Amino acid sequence: MILDIINKKRLGEELEYKELDYAFSNYLKGKVPDYQMSALLMAICINDMTDEEVFSLTKIFVDSGDILDFNTEKEDSVDKHSTGGIGDKTSLIIAPIVAAAGIDVIKMSGRGLGYTGGTIDKLESIPGFKVDLTEKEIKKQIKDIGIVISSQTNTLVPLDKLIYSLRDVTATVSSIPLIAVSIMSKKIASGSKNIVIDLKVGNGALIQTTKEAKRLENLMIKIGKIYHRNVRVIINDMNTPLGNNIGNALEVIEAINVLNKTIKEGHLIDVCYDLASEMISLSKKISKAKALVEVDLLIETNKAYEKFIEWITYQGGDINKLKISNKVKKIRSYKTGQLTKIDALEIGKLSLEIGAGRKQKDDKINYKVGIVLHKKQMDKVKKGELLAELYIKDDIKIKNIKDIFIIN
Ligand code: URA
Repeated sequence: MILDIINKKRLGEELEYKELDYAFSNYLKGKVPDYQMSALLMAICINDMTDEEVFSLTKIFVDSGDILDFNTEKEDSVDKHSTGGIGDKTSLIIAPIVAAAGIDVIKMSGRGLGYTGGTIDKLESIPGFKVDLTEKEIKKQIKDIGIVISSQTNTLVPLDKLIYSLRDVTATVSSIPLIAVSIMSKKIASGSKNIVIDLKVGNGALIQTTKEAKRLENLMIKIGKIYHRNVRVIINDMNTPLGNNIGNALEVIEAINVLNKTIKEGHLIDVCYDLASEMISLSKKISKAKALVEVDLLIETNKAYEKFIEWITYQGGDINKLKISNKVKKIRSYKTGQLTKIDALEIGKLSLEIGAGRKQKDDKINYKVGIVLHKKQMDKVKKGELLAELYIKDDIKIKNIKDIFIIN
């Protein structure tokens, strides 16, 4: 049976619900081995999936675990998901803004596999912060303060956890239908009625082209409709890092600096305001322009910052104990000219090399290391001027500075 299913997909034919269910549910039970599932995933990756197949597989994923329901108190809770990128600390900024607007924010996040840590890794860099909450603790926290970010429970879409690990080592991560199934199954199982997806496109992101992003957007909205969820997708550029800090504790510090108004402008703020107002607009059913005014006010009056502190403290964290490495290496400009590009992918690789991300699932992240950019794209620079600082554990030689900072 499994061979027939793999063969059918290899020939580019559409699989029925019962065939997908047979393959994937038996994989979860350990009855289909990795090598056969790898072959099926590769056939899907090459021959694509129809919308019907995507809907079937989403259902199989959602049904593989528990469906959480945190919407007991308010109807308007909102969740946000980012497809990830270099320097992406938006969740740390947006979640308290939206919660300060009186909307429950419930977010299950993952650890990062790749160039930098995920939201959970970033939060874990705050000494004392507890990321593994039980369903009961999540419910209590939502009732008490209206905001929670917790690591994904083991019972939430267990099939995604298994399949994602396999995709990661079989070059099948980039399949658009598989990404749609993976993201939407988790969002649906986490229970929020309103979902905002921050879809990153560019060389530092999983999705490389606008055409792929549009297809993914379309699929996610259609899946949302089936489950009566309001889904909005915002497509954001990821060819250059987001903000100035890359690395776990450093990204928390930058998020704090946005919330307490130390940083007042820039691309990171624009992206965060846009996403936060989209979430507020969706949840309160008001115009985005009105929501944007609310976001501005919540930052201006420190309400968002106060909510951030309340949230971090509630989950046991103490931002005064945040630590970054005291070993710093300066990167200086190799010529005079215009900084036409700060390459997100190359910055990501550098971040991984100094220990801010993990290559393998079980790798340990060093929270204290990272990169602080001192120049923006299109800035004029002089030879010898400071471009960036690396917070490192061990000294490293940077061989490809001209690929990271392109100066013309
Ligand atoms: N993020 C996910 O959660 N799943 C994917 O497949 C890709 C990005």
